[in-house]
Amino acid sequence: MTNVTEHVRCLIIGSGPAGYTAAIYAGRSNLSPVLYEGLQPGGQLTTTTEIENFPGYPDGVSGNDMMEDLRKQAIKFGADVRRGVATFVELSTAPYAITIDGEKTLTCDTLIIATGATAQYLGLPDEIKYAGMGVSACATCDGFFYRKKKVAVVGGGDTACEEASYLAGLASQVYLIVRKPFLRASKIMQERILNTPNITVLFEHETTGLFGENGVEGAHLVKRRGKPDETKVDIAIDGFFLAIGHKPNTDIFANYLELDETGYIKTIPGTPRTNIPGVFAAGDVADPSYRQAITAAGSGCAAAIEAERYLVANKL
Ligand code: NDP
Repeated sequence: MTNVTEHVRCLIIGSGPAGYTAAIYAGRSNLSPVLYEGLQPGGQLTTTTEIENFPGYPDGVSGNDMMEDLRKQAIKFGADVRRGVATFVELSTAPYAITIDGEKTLTCDTLIIATGATAQYLGLPDEIKYAGMGVSACATCDGFFYRKKKVAVVGGGDTACEEASYLAGLASQVYLIVRKPFLRASKIMQERILNTPNITVLFEHETTGLFGENGVEGAHLVKRRGKPDETKVDIAIDGFFLAIGHKPNTDIFANYLELDETGYIKTIPGTPRTNIPGVFAAGDVADPSYRQAITAAGSGCAAAIEAERYLVANKL
């Protein structure tokens, strides 16, 4: 590897709750961690309005404020937090080499990958127009704001069904917008959805736009698009939830790390260890199932502890 400019003991990629928590723990263990913030400093939580389910904040906290606090806490304990995106990695032999912004290359003894996952959106301009004003990709995060209101969930997989089921406990009415004539979700989830009185499944419906003055007030749908009986349908809703899948940010690691069929990094169950010694994965990048700030932070902590143990065991 050419152009190696620096060697660090602990390199962290990603700046959501997993990356920052790893940096706090690694900093307090004197590992002098270097953290690169990635494309979206602060991660997915910077796009949520209020976080009410992180323990310790009885009055809630904004995603931006929490990430700023975590960043400050990491710096306070000696983490070197830098702007930059990891664009290339070489993990075949230790020390591992990471190229930042296609320009400079660092080597590291331990690597903590906390690059997160990106929620998929339909790609409608209205999703951007109403971002934070009724459009969300996380029912557990934002569902509470729709108590006794009407919401729609897009998707027909397990995530969509779980989100619809969760929202049905809060909202007065939940529409599940499914593009096919059937659900892809597991049978048990399908049954739960079909047996919940305030969930209406709109099979063979696609969303073409959203409307509303100061936030989402409804969605434009089309039923059986392209068929002879194609129909336009409008529904009145206050919240529009996307649940059409997440894409873990793992492309640059695919040549080295074991990934599952969706692209999530596989870790040894109950640990943040990957198939490469000294390389750990924390947060949503290795978690298709919980995807919460608190679980991400917990796994970031575990990754830093593992990195410390690895360095000691290998006298690095
Ligand atoms: P999936 O890929 O399983 O489902 C995505 C859903 O979104 C599908 O119904 C798909 O439709 C729909 N979709 C995708 N793109 C669009 C689009 N552009 N417009 C409209 N609809 C669209 O993703 P999930 O996040 O639901 O699940 C991911 C994995 O995690 C799965 O293996 C799932 O089983 C698992 N999981 C398990 C849980 C559990 O066991 N408790 C909970 C949550 C997830 P279509 O069917 O037409 O392709």
